[in-house]
Amino acid sequence: MNEPLLSVRDMRVRYGQALALDGVSLDLEQGRVLAVLGPNGAGKSTLARAVSGLVPVASGSVRFGGSDITKQAAHRVRREGLVYLPEGSGVFPGLTVAENLRMAAALLPRGRRRAAVDEALEIFPALARRRGTRAGMLSGGERQMLSLSRALVLSPKLIIADEMSLGLAPMMVDMVFGALDRLRGADVTIVLIEQFVHRALRFADDAVLLSRGRVAWQGPADSAQQEVLARYLGEAAVA
Ligand code: ATP
Repeated sequence: MNEPLLSVRDMRVRYGQALALDGVSLDLEQGRVLAVLGPNGAGKSTLARAVSGLVPVASGSVRFGGSDITKQAAHRVRREGLVYLPEGSGVFPGLTVAENLRMAAALLPRGRRRAAVDEALEIFPALARRRGTRAGMLSGGERQMLSLSRALVLSPKLIIADEMSLGLAPMMVDMVFGALDRLRGADVTIVLIEQFVHRALRFADDAVLLSRGRVAWQGPADSAQQEVLARYLGEAAVA
């Protein structure tokens, strides 16, 4: 059997004395979508940050694409194709859509840049139509789409999308999920940290439910039972 694209084993992460993750293990196969759910403070963003090298792992291990990246610096993890998009992650409002993409492409070898930008715009035709528009003029949904397409310029293997639909109107949320679906179509593996639990579960293949830094439940997204979710997220969150 092939090794999973991402494999986390018994991970512990501390902020000073506080244990934010306490023995988390999960596997994610190439091409799949994993929803990471859990109440505020459960450790979802910490998991994303630790996997991407942005906070140190106290114990346990992270393997990505067949190599051990547990202690690797964030910029190297990113270069290997694991891209973390933190909540509200930035586009440059004063630059046009095309300029934002060209900036993202500046990390690539010179000869690859133009093609990478064109490919990203091909996947998001709605952005291609707005290529000359300043990012600050885009709607919330379009801005998230730009943020995803900036990540796409780097030909990622795995994207961790942290609360991309936070604070967006329902139509904009549809736009974000549409954009994620295009990424999936481009064979990008996705970790989705989401407040819209049902939406996330409909979209994802697998799900992990975190509670107080531990895995409370994990399994196929379509078998995440109402009772399990309600127990950890509260009735209001799953209604
Ligand atoms: P949310 O949905 O609110 O973003 P989360 O599930 O992403 O929550 P984390 O942000 O990972 O949770 O936080 C996990 C725990 O670690 C919480 O108790 C939080 O208070 C704590 N924590 C997070 N970041 C830091 C930090 N920089 N320093 C100290 N403690 C932190």
